[in-house]
Amino acid sequence: MKLTELFDKNKLSLSFEVFPPKTDTAFESVKQATEEIAKLRPSFMSVTYGAGGGTSKYTLDIAKNIKERYGVATLAHLTCVSSTKETVKQRIADMKEAGIENVMALRGDLTPQLEASDRSHWAYRHAVDLIRDLKESGADFCIGGACYPEIHPESANQKEDIKYLKEKADAGCSFLTTQMFFDNNLLYNFLYKIREAGITVPIIPGIMPITNANQVERAVKLSGSFMPQRFKSLVDKFGSSPAAMKQAGIAYATDQIIDLFANGITNVHVYSMNKPDVAEKIQSNLSDILG
Ligand code: FAD
Repeated sequence: MKLTELFDKNKLSLSFEVFPPKTDTAFESVKQATEEIAKLRPSFMSVTYGAGGGTSKYTLDIAKNIKERYGVATLAHLTCVSSTKETVKQRIADMKEAGIENVMALRGDLTPQLEASDRSHWAYRHAVDLIRDLKESGADFCIGGACYPEIHPESANQKEDIKYLKEKADAGCSFLTTQMFFDNNLLYNFLYKIREAGITVPIIPGIMPITNANQVERAVKLSGSFMPQRFKSLVDKFGSSPAAMKQAGIAYATDQIIDLFANGITNVHVYSMNKPDVAEKIQSNLSDILG
């Protein structure tokens, strides 16, 4: 089913993100974790894609398994940076064959080698190039794109970032999922600006439950997200106690989701990172709100 048909306008609905294994050996344990998450019956599950393409087959295998065994709609991620037209054409054909209906079209992160390389001959420089090819492929995909309430780290400023975001929406994105953020006010401010810029597609906020102190540094490095003092105090207080940190991180994420819903946002994506216990806890914390 197309995700746009699943987005609820009244009730709170949660979707969960998982990532595929990097090796054959890890496949079974990852598959099991994703199945545990699927049993929670989220509105959909997204399956990430390794930027180097190493996990492309696993992305489709995991997405297909969730959909076929549990009837949960899936969103398969696809990146394009450093790919050739032929590779992307093949990936699109593989997705069609696997029955994928929803694709998250991404550029992918630039590795230091890619940063240093000559980009003039690249077939794909930005996600918008992939979105256009997906549209032209003849497959009737529902396409999503990424957006950044705190601007993409490579962007000079928010105005420029939003200009390119509009280009992605106009090229055929049916929805946009945000990078993680820890201060909801940043999202509300962003929503105001993008609506003013004429971007009308649904925005799905992405919430990352931080469940251990080591994750904090990685998350900030990856996303450039601002850490509110309230969150920093929580890490200071509970960071050295894994169980307490996990409970506090889940409570913080739950609180963010409640605030989003109270402010009119009904579809929230949780970066559940192959952790069924975290997904389950967030869902049970919200049981009466989810209805
Ligand atoms: P783009 O939309 O291409 O934007 C990248 C930068 O280029 C921005 O600064 C933008 O303003 C600028 N830009 C865009 N278009 C133009 C243009 N036409 N001209 C000039 N500048 C332009 N990575 C993975 O490897 N696998 C995943 O599965 C994955 N899933 C993700 C899911 C979400 C929800 C998010 C937020 C990120 C995800 N990422 C994933 C990370 C993502 O690949 C990186 O954030 C990457 O650096 C940018 O990807 P993008 O699709 O937003 O790129």
